[in-house]
Amino acid sequence: MAGKVWFVGAGPGDPELLTVKGRRLLASAGAVLFAGSLVNQAATLFTPPGCEIRDSKDMTLEEMNAWLVEKSARHACVVRLQTGDPGLYGALVEMSRPLTAAGIDWAVVPGVSSALASAAAAGESLTLPEVTQTVILTRVAGRTPMPPGEELEALAAHGSTLCIFLSITLLHEVQGALRAAGWAEDSPILVVQKASWPGEEKIVRGTLADIKRRCQAEKIASQAMIIASPALGAADWPDLARSRLYDPAFSHRFRKASTPENPA
Ligand code: SAH
Repeated sequence: MAGKVWFVGAGPGDPELLTVKGRRLLASAGAVLFAGSLVNQAATLFTPPGCEIRDSKDMTLEEMNAWLVEKSARHACVVRLQTGDPGLYGALVEMSRPLTAAGIDWAVVPGVSSALASAAAAGESLTLPEVTQTVILTRVAGRTPMPPGEELEALAAHGSTLCIFLSITLLHEVQGALRAAGWAEDSPILVVQKASWPGEEKIVRGTLADIKRRCQAEKIASQAMIIASPALGAADWPDLARSRLYDPAFSHRFRKASTPENPA
């Protein structure tokens, strides 16, 4: 049997944030390889009886690749379940290339990234008219070095929204980079741990000056998203530039601008 391998985004943690398509594939999967504790609940909730379920947390990349190749010879549908979206820090290329080389069909189902779930948890918008219209998804260097030109200081110089993955243990480096890029000490910073996890989510709001102390006080040392953005906290601003999309003088495809002859 020539099975197909699906790289499915499990979303940020809440099983209800899995896509309908992801859920359908899990329900018909003969084998599921899932990425550690972050997605196991979704894996066991939606898989059929008899499905082979394996946690990949103690496996090397080579072992995972061999597992997927082996299972796809025995099952029509094999799922590799990954946190958030498979295309962000998910080793998708390293895992799909051996499948292609072995002549195995594969495809990707996107997922809700933790960057978006973290903003949602805090009720924040990552973009705001006339404040920032750009979101940068990045990290600071850990064992994986940053390519030239992608140092956080250089990216922060844009002054736009930064969603910083995989960096909560390097918060001092994040602070240093933002300071070097000219961010003020009172710039708002948001940290969300286990965004969307029922009963486990933690939201910490602070400033460039105190965010590290606040995270230490909350004992946040893993599974956390750092969001730095000039748009944070806008829900409480006294003055807000109005989004052009809802401006009564702005026509678009779905609505005519209101004019004296055509009032809103
Ligand atoms: N593909 C994933 C990211 C994997 S890298 C996605 O799209 O979200 C792992 C990093 O993602 C963690 O270090 C953390 O920064 C972030 N992360 C994953 N799940 C998270 C969650 N539920 N809440 C906050 N951050 C999370």
